[in-house]
Amino acid sequence: MSSHHQVLVIGGGTAGIMVASQLQRNHKNINVGLIEPADKHYYQPAYTLVGAGTYDFDKLSRSMASLIPKGVTWIKDFATGFKPEDNTVTTKNSGDITYDYLVVAAGIVYDHTLVEGLSEAIDKGVVCSNYTDSKHVWNVVKNFKGGVALFTQPTTPIKCGGAPQKALYMSEDYFRKSGVRKDSTVVFATNGGVIFGVKPIAETLMNVIDRKDINVKFGHQLVKIDADKKIAWYKMGDNVSEHNHKDIKITEENGLVGIHYDMLHLAPPQTAPKFIQNSSLVNAEGWVDVDIHTLQHKKYSNIFSLGDAAALPTAKTGAAVRKQAPLVIDNIVSLMNNNTVTNKKYNGYSSCPLVTGYGKMALAEFDYDNNFTPDPGLKLMLIFDSSKEHWRLWMLKKYMLPYLYWNKMMRGKEV
Ligand SMILES: Cc1cc2nc3c(=O)[nH]c(=O)nc-3n(C[C@H](O)[C@H](O)[C@H](O)COP(=O)(O)OP(=O)(O)OC[C@H]3O[C@@H](n4cnc5c(N)ncnc54)[C@H](O)[C@@H]3O)c2cc1C
Repeated sequence: MSSHHQVLVIGGGTAGIMVASQLQRNHKNINVGLIEPADKHYYQPAYTLVGAGTYDFDKLSRSMASLIPKGVTWIKDFATGFKPEDNTVTTKNSGDITYDYLVVAAGIVYDHTLVEGLSEAIDKGVVCSNYTDSKHVWNVVKNFKGGVALFTQPTTPIKCGGAPQKALYMSEDYFRKSGVRKDSTVVFATNGGVIFGVKPIAETLMNVIDRKDINVKFGHQLVKIDADKKIAWYKMGDNVSEHNHKDIKITEENGLVGIHYDMLHLAPPQTAPKFIQNSSLVNAEGWVDVDIHTLQHKKYSNIFSLGDAAALPTAKTGAAVRKQAPLVIDNIVSLMNNNTVTNKKYNGYSSCPLVTGYGKMALAEFDYDNNFTPDPGLKLMLIFDSSKEHWRLWMLKKYMLPYLYWNKMMRGKEV
């Protein structure tokens, strides 16, 4: 079994479906194949709302079959490796697939083994994660009776870097509603040295942290979880500092600092999928080694990558994919017609909708240089400073963005 496609896309997530749909809509003559093993496609940005009990998990997914555009050949299989010199991708069951142009959009995977004890702990009891089981998060938050609520994240890059903080702010707000806040200490421990890389957003978030009286511990590198004793163990970075100190139980042992918790929310460590990491396509950190402005592979000019798997020094989000996908297509079409990519440049645009409580949100939009770059279209929604919390931004997150995702982005329409 083998087949050939002019453009072969690996992955039917946000990036793969956007690329395939836009190609199908605007370049019907191009023969497109898409390798994707999953039956379902999830709208991941709403996981944080599910974890706060304000979005229905069952409304988050659509069948993959309903999203793969008619005319695109669905190869329902796992890609297993690359032979870029032969323009070939190997698969688990469908043999070798050849291509003229390849788009690698296989996303990110969770590697629990990078934090000792995490595999045993995650999604059980009081240890939860919006990344892996947002329904469990809501159960843990709903049933929290007070004590130390610890929110944390790993030292690896993670998709939607703001998501661990969204869980923090939403849970804290819920503890006020449920009446347990006065019996609780809410702690955020992160390996970073600042709350957010974009200045006006960092200012807003530090105000939120003070308003909510959250204890923030910077420079904390998560290395181990002891689920039996309910201790999260950290190595100290050289950027350790603390904000809103609280007297909570801390144990120090073998050079590590252990925070005792009564509930723990965390993002698991994340890497590119193994078949990508083990290929000749990656940089030293294991991400697909593309030019950060053209998204073209640095060594193989007929390979492109976008989304979470690509080595792009910006936040890994669906919002970033929205800006990357049209460029990948323009560059492929330009290569086909003119033998060279366009002179358009991706500037690292990404965005993170930071929900800070029920009905409250600030919208971080930024580029490679962490400049705050708000969409001028927000003014039409009467939002004049999106770095500040606003209820209209919450409405955007909860209602408008899911609608635009399913009906525009996934259909290859302009948004
Ligand atoms: C908790 C959470 C909150 C988030 N919040 C936001 C937000 O508010 N805003 C925002 O913009 N983004 C948010 N994101 C991030 C966003 O969902 C991702 O950045 C986006 O989905 C990336 O698209 P992608 O196509 O690269 O990866 P994905 O959408 O994850 O898709 C990857 C696809 O590749 C497939 N695949 C994997 N391995 C193989 C293989 N071997 N062969 C073939 N196919 C394979 C997978 O099955 C999957 O369908 C959030 C994510 C999470 C988890």
